[in-house]
Amino acid sequence: MKKTVVFGGTFNPFHFGHLKLINEVISTVRPDRFILMPAHLPPHKIEEELLNDSDRLEILRLAASELSGVEVSDYEIKTGGKSYTVNTLEYLHRLYPDEQLYFAMGSDMLISFLNWYRAERILELAVLVCNCRDESEMAAAKSAGERIAEKGGRCVFTECEPLVCSSTTVRERIKAGLPITDLVPKPVADYIERNGLYRGND
Ligand code: ATP
Repeated sequence: MKKTVVFGGTFNPFHFGHLKLINEVISTVRPDRFILMPAHLPPHKIEEELLNDSDRLEILRLAASELSGVEVSDYEIKTGGKSYTVNTLEYLHRLYPDEQLYFAMGSDMLISFLNWYRAERILELAVLVCNCRDESEMAAAKSAGERIAEKGGRCVFTECEPLVCSSTTVRERIKAGLPITDLVPKPVADYIERNGLYRGND
């Protein structure tokens, strides 16, 4: 059975933590297709500094252009409203009915997963793949994995050292006028710089 990985997020902006997750998930799952799925509006957090859809999409396309077999979908952005993972997976399941879907996430997300909207349906549609984000989260993430298994879901973990990095740090650095070249791929840093993104209320 063909395997398709979906990696959803706000990507505000894309950074090396996301890149590490992508590479680790590819080594663990060996998928036939890998889809980056930027959310229009994340259901779980209020993003006051959410960059417009087209710049976030363009940044992801630049990041994906350096990765073989990784594509970017504008499905959630085109659909609009709050981007619920279950709806996206239902759509992909209709599109690729004979494929096994995987949904990739960092350990912070796995810990709260069972509170997500229609979590049990998500578990019917996809295998979860968890990448450690911070060593201190791993015990809670493993126990979330066990609770997911008790509900009949499947969750696999990548084997990797965490890379502590967040979009928040990238945005804070830019506001402080500091370089971000150690946090994001070069084409992403260049795009942000060229377009003056995240500099504040100007
Ligand atoms: P913000 O700082 O704005 O809250 P973020 O860095 O958490 O953003 P998101 O786009 O919200 O980035 O995250 C999308 C997905 O990527 C989530 O599943 C998250 O757990 C995962 N992720 C983000 N950063 C890392 C990282 N450093 N290591 C592993 N996974 C990560």
